[in-house]
Amino acid sequence: MKVLLIGGSGMVGSFITPYLAKHHELRVLDMVPPKRADLVEYIQGSISNPDDVARALDGMDTFVNLVMRSPQGGSEFGISLLYITHDLTTAYQVCDNIVVLYQGSVTEAGSVERVIRDPKHPYTQLLVSSIPQTDRSQRWGNDEIPIAEANVGRATSGCRFAPRCAAVMEECWQRIPPLFQIDSDRAASCYLHKQAPVLPSEGIGRVFHRPVETSTPTP
Ligand code: SF4
Repeated sequence: MKVLLIGGSGMVGSFITPYLAKHHELRVLDMVPPKRADLVEYIQGSISNPDDVARALDGMDTFVNLVMRSPQGGSEFGISLLYITHDLTTAYQVCDNIVVLYQGSVTEAGSVERVIRDPKHPYTQLLVSSIPQTDRSQRWGNDEIPIAEANVGRATSGCRFAPRCAAVMEECWQRIPPLFQIDSDRAASCYLHKQAPVLPSEGIGRVFHRPVETSTPTP
């Protein structure tokens, strides 16, 4: 996969570059050259300049944006990292938290460990069960999830995944499911979990796992 690291010349970019370079073709967009120029293609520019970003994104499959610390938490380096990808395995390796989207809507969100290892939304379950393995007897998911085809093409004013969902119920076609907070670490937009409390979309950060804060020793 071709991955663009925006701001990849900084401390965290330099830290993750050798690992990512083993699996991906890398390009860095930054104001200064990367320390590991031998491992990446470099484009000088700024994320605040749309022309630079367009030039850097050209031909890439995905990007990693190394941004400042967000209200949702951050690493011991005082930054957060937003990783947008179709590759669940690298997301599992790189991220603390994950938001899974289907047709632009959140289906499941929370701790990456919980969501990938024990998905609760039928779409996430399908995604996880489709992760390829070199050993075909091994799967990431617990079960082989059936793909529903009977309703493909049926219009829905409710859940967007309803036409492909093997667990679809009548109410799924009528109303968009809200996010249900299944436990302290995850929420899913699915009526299979309607017994759980509704989580307002602006409260999605509540189910994110926060890295352990490191205190700065006082002199
Ligand atoms: S809300 Fe219904 S259709 Fe949508 S994922 Fe859940 S069970 Fe399937």
